[in-house]
Amino acid sequence: MKKKIALHWQIGIGMVLGVVFGLLLGKYEWGRPFVENWIYPFGELFINLLKLIAIPLIIASLIKGISDMQDISKLSSIGIRTLMLYIFTTICAITIGLGVANIVKPGSGISEETITQLTSDSDKADIVNQRISDSQTKTKNFVEFIVDIVPDNILGAMSDNNQMLQVIFFAVLLGVSLLLIGEEKAKPLKRFFDSLNDAVLKMVDLIIKIAPVAVFALLANVVVGTNDIDVLVALLKYSFTVIGSLFLMIVVYMIFISVYVKKNPLWFLRQMSPVQLLAFSTSSSAATLPVNMERVQEYIGVDEEVSSFVLPVGATINMDGTSLYQAVATIFICEALHFDITFADQLTIIFTALLASIGTAAVPGVGVVMLIIVLQSINFPADKLPLGIALILSVDRILDMCRTVINVTGDATVATVVAKSVGKLGEPKHKD
Ligand code: ASP
Repeated sequence: MKKKIALHWQIGIGMVLGVVFGLLLGKYEWGRPFVENWIYPFGELFINLLKLIAIPLIIASLIKGISDMQDISKLSSIGIRTLMLYIFTTICAITIGLGVANIVKPGSGISEETITQLTSDSDKADIVNQRISDSQTKTKNFVEFIVDIVPDNILGAMSDNNQMLQVIFFAVLLGVSLLLIGEEKAKPLKRFFDSLNDAVLKMVDLIIKIAPVAVFALLANVVVGTNDIDVLVALLKYSFTVIGSLFLMIVVYMIFISVYVKKNPLWFLRQMSPVQLLAFSTSSSAATLPVNMERVQEYIGVDEEVSSFVLPVGATINMDGTSLYQAVATIFICEALHFDITFADQLTIIFTALLASIGTAAVPGVGVVMLIIVLQSINFPADKLPLGIALILSVDRILDMCRTVINVTGDATVATVVAKSVGKLGEPKHKD
């Protein structure tokens, strides 16, 4: 019998071939437009497919999960545990980022010449200005944030992938109401959402089959334009500080999995590997969400009652990787541009990066926009802000890919821990 290659290997091979292909074609002048126009669209198509099913999946699985609950008080207990764990892991991540950055000091000793080389690019100036203007529209106070969770039009909320919390709110409300009207009356709708849920999970299965080709296209597109090797070397210390700290965060998750959940952390990572590879290739936790939900349920054994709530909420408000990166980037920029920060500033960074993580949309590149807000919170001089952002922009794409891996792993870890704590962690249906 022909032995099937495991999905994570297929995706891994697709990624490696994509990098090689992109680097090779990058050598020719026609290579970049060719990859952008003819190869990348396959990756885009895949991301669109994943985003397409994200909203139906959240709605169907949340409504099914909640309306199947025997006891409504379980919902609040899952909700409280989830939020506490999300806040806890995010604070851990920021503290690790700050701690490592304070020790490594990635920005010290960067020469004026390197700073000029890294920031004197007119293309970059446009992007920086765009990010700064985006950050001005992103700041919301707590009350506005809460009011915004409640949609005034569910179709409007569903048509905007950035309004996931609004969709979650509606699905929870409908799920709870179905529980309250009693089994008899709830039956037709429950059956409908049950079957929709199965159908959407099947779609995940089908879509994931093209993942190896899609990651080939996505990675070829990422590397085809990279010729900034000097820039990368100048930012190597900074990049390694971010990547090293992200790795420490994985260790924190593994401690949770082995000590509390009592499962082998390597087994957990193996089951999660397709999700992590996709997060890396797409740089978007929102696009990765459907696959994360499928893997956590079917391969880790988390009951749908838990995963259907914890993961979509996590994709929106829990970004451990992003907040860790913001902590390191803030220290790096302040050091490189000689802006001294105090201990009180570091506490402010913890607080603002935590809030920024809640407010960061789960799509590529938004971490930088939120970084601007973190920098502003410690009164970083406005005139130096564009320089600071331009400084880190060259490596942002690759760091975005890495931090997204942590973002999705954090969500899956919390889902598993919450499931264990409420007795909803069973045997997985499949093994990889
Ligand atoms: N790309 C990240 C995510 O989707 C967000 C960010 O850090 O920019 O999880």
